[in-house]
Amino acid sequence: MSSLINKLTNLHDRFFALVSLLQSPFLLLVRLYWGWQLAQSGWGKLHNLGKVTDFFTSLNLPMPAQMAVFISCVEFFGGLFLAIGLFSRMTALVLTINMIMAYVTADREALFSIISDPDKFYAAAPYVFLIASLIILIFGPGKFCVDYLLRRFAHLPTTATTEGRNLYTVSRPGRSSVTGTGCANSFYLQVCFSFFLLLSIPQRLRGETNFTVEAASAKIDATVTGDALKVSDSRLKQWVQKAADAVVAYYGRYPVPHLTLQIRSFEGKGVRGGQTFPRDGGFIRIAVGSQTSEDDLNSDWMLAHEMVHLTFPNMQDEHHWIEEGIATYIEPIARIQAGQFSASRMWFELVRDMPKGLPQSGDQGLDHTHTWGRTYWGGALFCFLADLEIRKQTQNKNGLQDALRGILNAGGSMLNDWPIEKALQTGDRAVGVEVLAKLYEEMRDRPMPVDLDSLWKQLGIRVENGAAQFNDEAALAAIRNAITTPRT
Ligand SMILES: [Zn+2]
Repeated sequence: MSSLINKLTNLHDRFFALVSLLQSPFLLLVRLYWGWQLAQSGWGKLHNLGKVTDFFTSLNLPMPAQMAVFISCVEFFGGLFLAIGLFSRMTALVLTINMIMAYVTADREALFSIISDPDKFYAAAPYVFLIASLIILIFGPGKFCVDYLLRRFAHLPTTATTEGRNLYTVSRPGRSSVTGTGCANSFYLQVCFSFFLLLSIPQRLRGETNFTVEAASAKIDATVTGDALKVSDSRLKQWVQKAADAVVAYYGRYPVPHLTLQIRSFEGKGVRGGQTFPRDGGFIRIAVGSQTSEDDLNSDWMLAHEMVHLTFPNMQDEHHWIEEGIATYIEPIARIQAGQFSASRMWFELVRDMPKGLPQSGDQGLDHTHTWGRTYWGGALFCFLADLEIRKQTQNKNGLQDALRGILNAGGSMLNDWPIEKALQTGDRAVGVEVLAKLYEEMRDRPMPVDLDSLWKQLGIRVENGAAQFNDEAALAAIRNAITTPRT
């Protein structure tokens, strides 16, 4: 009997000794798979620093621009180091802190759902990277890593990496301590520093009111924080409703099923500081002055502008001009179609402002000239020319509006990252003529000259005494009318 038990024990031990052989390959797999993914995520962030900075700004993080570079580098180099197994445990420690930080700052709701709604906790972006980092931090990188080779090269003990010793603190008598730590240590210190900086952000202890607005089948949940406003909450709600209605009028639907709208108050008058982000399924923050009047809200364009941003796919930084161009060109048209603004005022403003979008000397095309004028009005000029050309080629049956609706209906909202080519081709397909892709080829890398004065004349627009006068006999008068006519 006892010999049977011995045999079984022996078999058990041998079997699991074999399974233990999988430790290093498993750790290698964890490192390669998630390390590589993390490096790619960092690489993506490094190429979209503007967006990352905007996102960090929306989270109220201190020094958002520096933080964007820093976090992108942590992810990129951390991911690479993790994958090849260089400074593995130190890297895993840095990444663990980084991922906890990501939970605390950007996915706080998911973090607090760890017990009540675990699915939410698992679904947050930092989750898998946190687990992978913790595995390497606690169990080490395994034998298949650069650290292991370095150790052998330095004639240091190469015993099991799961024993909890740290390569970077090992020093031997008569030999200088193993270096390569300087980089990793300052890395670590910087992360700790940023982490404590974040914790020290004072919590705003202010009053907060909430309301909900419905637009088509979408819901907009608004939060108002800060000092009391002169305008009533119901007036504020009307302002949000109007902006949403304008977007629905132009696009035939609201671009996202749910929008989180954060309204902050500031000391002063007017509306300012609008920013739109794809986080949480659509997030807009905007500031309203405590002295803002009903008239100020009535004439506000900024909230509609921000909402238009939700209707187009998220672009790489170099194509930011098309995002701002669409918002700049569409916002007044959408408000006209919703009965909130006048066509004569819009054309007056276009004649006044469109020249700001013309190329100046040294211009290298829209993708490479990131001035304010070329971003906002250069982008608007692109939209305007595309609108005219689509209408000309379709005998005024279709316009940019149909192309943009086509892009949104194909899933191209801000919640999705699309290459610009995909967005433009989708728009062209929706109207049946290739205008957007061709115009982009013309305008992306070089300064395309545009004779605006001749276009105003063809459209039948003349500016007199601070207002636009229309000539319905002009060649493109019908197109001018069609641009602002409400759709059914
Ligand atoms: Zn904008």
